Amino acid sequence: MSDIVLRARDLKKHYSVGGGLLKPSNTVKALDGVSFDLERNKTLAVVGESGCGKSTLARLVTMIEEPTDGSLQIKDTELAGASVEARKALRPKVQIVFQNPYGSLNPRQQIGDALTEPLSMNTDLPKAEKRDRAKDMMAAVGLRPEHYDRYPHMFSGGQRQRIAIARALMLDPEILVLDEPVSALDVSIQAQVLNVLSELQEKLNLAYLFISHDLSVVKHIADDVMVMYLGKPVEKASRDELFSEPRHPYTRALLSATPIPDPTREKNREVLKGELPSPINPPSGCTFHPRCPKVFEPCADKVPLLEGSNNRKVACHLYTE
Ligand code: SF4
Repeated sequence: MSDIVLRARDLKKHYSVGGGLLKPSNTVKALDGVSFDLERNKTLAVVGESGCGKSTLARLVTMIEEPTDGSLQIKDTELAGASVEARKALRPKVQIVFQNPYGSLNPRQQIGDALTEPLSMNTDLPKAEKRDRAKDMMAAVGLRPEHYDRYPHMFSGGQRQRIAIARALMLDPEILVLDEPVSALDVSIQAQVLNVLSELQEKLNLAYLFISHDLSVVKHIADDVMVMYLGKPVEKASRDELFSEPRHPYTRALLSATPIPDPTREKNREVLKGELPSPINPPSGCTFHPRCPKVFEPCADKVPLLEGSNNRKVACHLYTE
C-alpha cells in the first residue's frame, strides 16, 4: 500500500476580481501550479509570507474550495469529477486546525459537546460511546476528564488549541491541515502543542500539511519543506537540507529573518527588501526579481522552472543558467 495519502499536480486557483460595466475583470493567481505528495506519518511544511498562497492551498486540500485547474488526489480518489458520495466519504479524512483556537470554538458550547458534535453529525454512535471517545481524545491531547463540562473561556490559549486538535481528530482523519496552529501562542506553549502534535502523528499515523510563516517552528516539526512565493513553490527540500543549505534567495532571506540564536549568522544576514508585489499584476520573469539581492540578466524576462531531483528542487536561474 502506498504511503502517499494526498497528491497534488499543477494545482491552480485563480480568482476574477473587479470588473464591471465596460471594465474587464482582473485575474488573481492565488495558486499557480503547485505539485507535491503528502505521506502518512510525515509533515510537509508550506512556508512563505502572507499572500504567498499557502492558505488558499489549505482551502483546496480541505475541499472548502475547488481548484481552477490541476489534479488533487486524496487517498487515490481524484477530486475533479468525483461523485457527491465519494467527496462526502473523503471529507472526514481531511480535517483542519486553525490559527485562532478561540475563534474556532463556540463560546456557549461545553467542550464535551464541541468534541461529540462531529460524531453526532456523521455517525449513529450511542451517546455513551460518543462521550467515551471524546474523553479518550481529551486524554490523548493532555486534557483532564473534568474539562469535559467546561466552556472555552475557562481554558488558556494552549489548552484551547489542544481542544481544537482533539475536535479535528474525532472523525479519525488521515490528513490534518495545520494552518498556523501555534502562531497565536506564547513560545513556551508553542513547544508543548508541537510536542502533542508529534506524539499524535506517531500514534495515529497522521499526515500533516503544516502551514506557517515561522521557520523556527517549521524546523521543529517538518520532515520536508515547500517554500512558496506569489502562488508558486520556489524551493522544495527535506527539512535538514533546507536549513543547512538553502538555495533560493527568497528562502535564504526568510531564514536570515528567523531569530535563531547563532552569532555567526549575523554576518551573512540577507535582508528581504520591499513588500510582496500585488498578485493582480505580478512582476515579469522571476516574480521575486524586484526584491532579489542576486538578480541578474535573465531574471526579469525568463520564468525560472522548479527543477532538480525528486526531493530537492529550486526555481532560480542561478542554478540553471
Ligand atoms: Fe533571484 Fe534571478 Fe533567482 Fe529569481 S531567478 S531568485 S531574481 S537570481
